[in-house]
Amino acid sequence: MTITITLLGTGSPIPDPNRAGPSTLISAGGEHLLVDAGRGVLMRLAAAGVGAPQLSAVLLTHLHSDHITDLNDIITTRWVMTLEPTPLTVVGPVGTKSVVDHLLASLAPDIAYRTAHHGDLNHEPPVEVIEVTDGQVALDTAMSVSCAPTDHRPVEPSVGYRIEHGGASVVLAGDTVPCDGLDGLTAGADALVHTVIRKDIIAALPMQRIRDTLDYHSSPSEAGATATRAGVRTLVLTHYVPPLQPGTEEEWRGIAAEEFAGRIELGPDLHRIEIQPRSTQAD
Ligand SMILES: [Zn+2]
Repeated sequence: MTITITLLGTGSPIPDPNRAGPSTLISAGGEHLLVDAGRGVLMRLAAAGVGAPQLSAVLLTHLHSDHITDLNDIITTRWVMTLEPTPLTVVGPVGTKSVVDHLLASLAPDIAYRTAHHGDLNHEPPVEVIEVTDGQVALDTAMSVSCAPTDHRPVEPSVGYRIEHGGASVVLAGDTVPCDGLDGLTAGADALVHTVIRKDIIAALPMQRIRDTLDYHSSPSEAGATATRAGVRTLVLTHYVPPLQPGTEEEWRGIAAEEFAGRIELGPDLHRIEIQPRSTQAD
């Protein structure tokens, strides 16, 4: 059994012509879970051959705008592209319900236009929100999902997710500094997907507003140290700040490798990584 990680969007709040906003697709056994819903997520999903109707759930790590900016697009597109009412399950930290309620309120004119125009579209977008803090998440999918608190303060609450299928396990850290919650969630997993910023570069920029981001993100080496403590085999870096320039991949990889001796994956949007269960991996 294999879990496939697709880096749909490897960008950040900084607009980039080549990198969509933060979002990662986790696929196994013909099912798909979307983790975060950043800028351009449906374009990248289309490129990956997956549509909004095929998502088993959307998992939000936190409510920073760059991680949720296209959630409204997922809600609307799934609604108009399914013939029967097909609830979209959105999992996220406390506060997610309010955000979704406000998104739906902002979509009220569109909902009114479309239900008035299409005779067979006589229901509003069905969205089911599950707010989570810690522990197992009850989802109607063959993939097992659990979560734990992360530390992205003053953005709180924030959570990371662990997704398991057929003996393989992948953790999605989201934005966080190293913390006990993430360590516990990641312990013994096969892979860790971690957002990163280059603190060596950002700390030298003459702009306080961007330097403010240093204290609530991990650097590649901090992500590497988390991966090492957890004993994972594969570390996947994403959410590159500043945008990762082609040709500098080895520089980023080298910084993570200061703290982690395993396989390190990074790349452009749509980079895909296959994760096998530990028992089937060659040592
Ligand atoms: Zn964030």
